[in-house]
Amino acid sequence: MAETSFDVLIIGGGPGGYVAAIRAAQLGLKTAVAEKADLGGICLNWGCIPTKALLRSSELYHTMENAGAYGLKAKDVGFDLAKVVERSRAVAKRLNQGVGHLMKKNKVTVIEGEAKLTAPGKVAVTGKGKGEYAAKHIILATGARPRVLPGIEPDKKLIWTYFEAMVPDRMPKSLIVVGSGAIGIEFASFYRAFGAEVTVVEMLPRILPVEDEEIAALARKQFEKQGIGIVTSATVKSVKKAKDSLTATIEEGGGKSSEVSAERMISAVGVTGNVENLGLEALGVKVEKGLIVADGFGRTNVAGIYAIGDVAGPPLLAHKAEHEGVVCVEKIAGLADVHPIDKLKIPGCTYCRPQIASVGLTEKRAREAGLQVKVGRFPFLANGKAIALGEDQGLVKTIFDASTGQLLGAHMVGAEVTELVQGFVVAMNLETTEAELMHSIFPHPTLSEMMHESVLDAYGRAIHI
Ligand SMILES: Cc1cc2nc3c(=O)[nH]c(=O)nc-3n(C[C@H](O)[C@H](O)[C@H](O)COP(=O)(O)OP(=O)(O)OC[C@H]3O[C@@H](n4cnc5c(N)ncnc54)[C@H](O)[C@@H]3O)c2cc1C
Repeated sequence: MAETSFDVLIIGGGPGGYVAAIRAAQLGLKTAVAEKADLGGICLNWGCIPTKALLRSSELYHTMENAGAYGLKAKDVGFDLAKVVERSRAVAKRLNQGVGHLMKKNKVTVIEGEAKLTAPGKVAVTGKGKGEYAAKHIILATGARPRVLPGIEPDKKLIWTYFEAMVPDRMPKSLIVVGSGAIGIEFASFYRAFGAEVTVVEMLPRILPVEDEEIAALARKQFEKQGIGIVTSATVKSVKKAKDSLTATIEEGGGKSSEVSAERMISAVGVTGNVENLGLEALGVKVEKGLIVADGFGRTNVAGIYAIGDVAGPPLLAHKAEHEGVVCVEKIAGLADVHPIDKLKIPGCTYCRPQIASVGLTEKRAREAGLQVKVGRFPFLANGKAIALGEDQGLVKTIFDASTGQLLGAHMVGAEVTELVQGFVVAMNLETTEAELMHSIFPHPTLSEMMHESVLDAYGRAIHI
């Protein structure tokens, strides 16, 4: 007979849930994960991973189109969209199966079906794994889904969410992307690279609203150079649909309004937590603005019930979900020295061209917090490796507390910065000051040298500029 009683039962097998399950099992806790769709959640199946596979294709396509700049000849450069999508789906499937193997390896019970809390310590599942289950600790890791704005409700045909945008059956000639956060910008980058006329509409005065203003402005310049149209301080007021296209009425400040027609629209206006039908109200679990309220260890206001990942609030990132899962079960297991999540030290990455990556306070937020700051900047065009790569556009910006020298934040735009940012994350976790960063030797020639130079620049010591 299948097990029905566990130390830890996790609802949702996304990066938050499956990582929590593995760590719980490592700690000797009898663990189960209930998943109603695919192990790996949005991240592996419809988010981080398949988008990066798509973006890899668009990046290579761009490189092939520019082969001449590298002394190479590439004739008849083209693309087969069905194959691009097929590859992305295959990458997602491979990782989804990998999570299945990890569950088996760690002896985590996978319950297939939709789970709901029925009483303290009790969960009912419908679907293949139908039954009543008991657990001392229940972790909610149910993730999030696309937010819907009135007037631009996704219809799967003309107005897409990220689900449809990830599996297009043909390349639209034109596209409106509503929302300029990471998801919107990544899709804008992908579709533009393959030739679509792309217009991004952003409600706020600037794109990439969570990023440092200077970095976002530089990124905007690059996107516009690539031919992406960007309208800020603007909202889509209404959409008129035709058979195979639509026309959006876009309202900008000062009563100005314009019409933009396109074949498709992607609504990328954020996500909302999956808090419905979980039995939260009956048990009194606190929910605010569609998200479960939890502390730095994932504990909700109800003993024995925890929440991690997207459903527990921003930043809505897979690595945040994973880390929360680990912290949550380590606390449950009673480990000493478990650190609560420090949201300031969570890096954020956008994998468009050029890439954007950041961690810590933006310059504006640091100043608003009343801190005296020292700011360092180093441009890609002064870095040997960047020039050799043919990627000389970008900036590495660092922000230090002027009185203590502590690294407060780092913000970057340019090639491969998503791979660089981790250096600054480690530095911030070690509460590094400019002195340790200056003493560190960075390999030459690498893009990482710009991290060093940016630190030096904050103290008037940059060498190559
Ligand atoms: C297009 C796109 C690109 C993204 N790119 C990145 C990126 O590059 N980097 C990054 O860090 N983040 C990225 N994200 C965000 C990332 O996908 C999420 O932050 C991450 O998936 C959150 O993990 P989670 O475990 O909280 O939830 P999810 O991954 O959403 O998993 C939740 C799981 O719970 C299951 N579930 C829900 N309710 C129930 C129930 N009642 N019973 C059983 N199962 C249930 C769902 O089926 C799902 O599998 C992206 C998101 C999107 C949409």
